[in-house]
Amino acid sequence: MSTYHRTAAIVSQGDEIVLGQTLDTNSRWLSGRLMDAGVLPVEHVSLPDDRGAIAATLTRLSERVNLIICSGGLGPTADDLTRFALLDVLGGEMVEDEASLAAIRAYFESRGRVMGELNRVQAQRPRAAEMIANPHGTAPGLFARLPSGCEVFCLPGPPREMMPMFESHVRPRLRLEPGRTVVTRSLHTIGLGESEIAARLTRAGDMMARTRNPSIGTTASQSIVSVRMRYEGASAGAAAALDADERAVRDLLGSAVFADGDQTLAAACLARLRERKQTLSVAESCTGGLLGSLITDVAGSSDVFVGGWLTYSNEAKRRDLGVPAALFSESGAAAAPGAVSAEVAAAMAEGARRVSGSSFALSITGIAGPGGAVPGKPVGTVFIGLAGDGFATKIRRFAMSSDRSAVRDWAARAALAMLWFHVVDDTTTRLLREVRLDGSA
Ligand code: AMP
Ligand code: MG
Repeated sequence: MSTYHRTAAIVSQGDEIVLGQTLDTNSRWLSGRLMDAGVLPVEHVSLPDDRGAIAATLTRLSERVNLIICSGGLGPTADDLTRFALLDVLGGEMVEDEASLAAIRAYFESRGRVMGELNRVQAQRPRAAEMIANPHGTAPGLFARLPSGCEVFCLPGPPREMMPMFESHVRPRLRLEPGRTVVTRSLHTIGLGESEIAARLTRAGDMMARTRNPSIGTTASQSIVSVRMRYEGASAGAAAALDADERAVRDLLGSAVFADGDQTLAAACLARLRERKQTLSVAESCTGGLLGSLITDVAGSSDVFVGGWLTYSNEAKRRDLGVPAALFSESGAAAAPGAVSAEVAAAMAEGARRVSGSSFALSITGIAGPGGAVPGKPVGTVFIGLAGDGFATKIRRFAMSSDRSAVRDWAARAALAMLWFHVVDDTTTRLLREVRLDGSA
């Protein structure tokens, strides 16, 4: 096995993790920090508080990687079993570590408390292991070298103790191969399905081949598909390889690419409007403020975002935005299109723009469910409007899934997607789940 730490496994421990009661944020954080350092995480394992399972997992992983980082299971109670599992793997006996015992006592005393007998176990370590001081809690960490040569760091579970221990004791002990790096980059897209993206990248020289470096993968989250690139190898080649791939991906996916890194769709839209010195307002119905929330999640949005209306009732749409009463079914007009219609979406967007004086206004009206469906308009029917200067108000209709929260989430992002494609002058891309205005596919 290489003497460098090129790859690592991460083990999170605790019944609460495996049962899904606590989200395993430690593993995510540790993976990020390892990658920043140039070490590639190759496996995450979550285990219950089960001594045998922990020992067996450490043994198995020690044949695959030469670095394992564990979190959790170092507390003082009967379900904290990491030190015992480590003993099972290392052999030998358990010893009480004088310095750690003193440190745990001092930790309690500094808070005006007396150490309980239960905490004494936290000063125990397998004879072959080293203690790692924990200035932020009672649980010291443990370090050991397993028979295969694999190094194991056991860190406390609470993130506010685990993170500083990683920085002060694990990070400096990583054996990094000089000149080697792991670098990731991501591009975020809207409007294209994951399979369409995969097809384009595959046609262009098999860019998603699993053996390729940089490797390229996609992940879809609601309507946004991210293309993730990962380079592993000589530091000197990283930027050129990733730049070339980024250019190729941008060429293949065109205006669907709205951002890179951590930038959101709302942030990308706001940035374009800011460049053009334009402003935005919103008129929401079924999304109940979600669109405004996505926009105001972006720090500094106030120079572009004027504000908006949450017009849930027909009366509010009429009173605040001037939507003609005759458009609503309750008006009694035989051909009234109803609150969820292209006509009302258009009137809402135009009303918002007129009253706020913004350059653009987005509107959303739809049926989030579970009730409210009407003939020809099933749950998930959403109309989105975009009004602005110099073009006829654009309306798109969507047939979204039947889950209330998914409909609302898709609708808010679809509105931003409409704005995005408008500002990048893309008039041809049909959005995901978009249907014709009459509801046909
Ligand atoms: P332990 O070291 O097992 O006593 O862990 C104590 C606490 O740390 C748990 O109650 C969790 O709240 C937190 N914790 C443990 N493991 C994790 C993890 N993988 N991710 C986030 N929090 C964790
Ligand atoms: Mg635990």
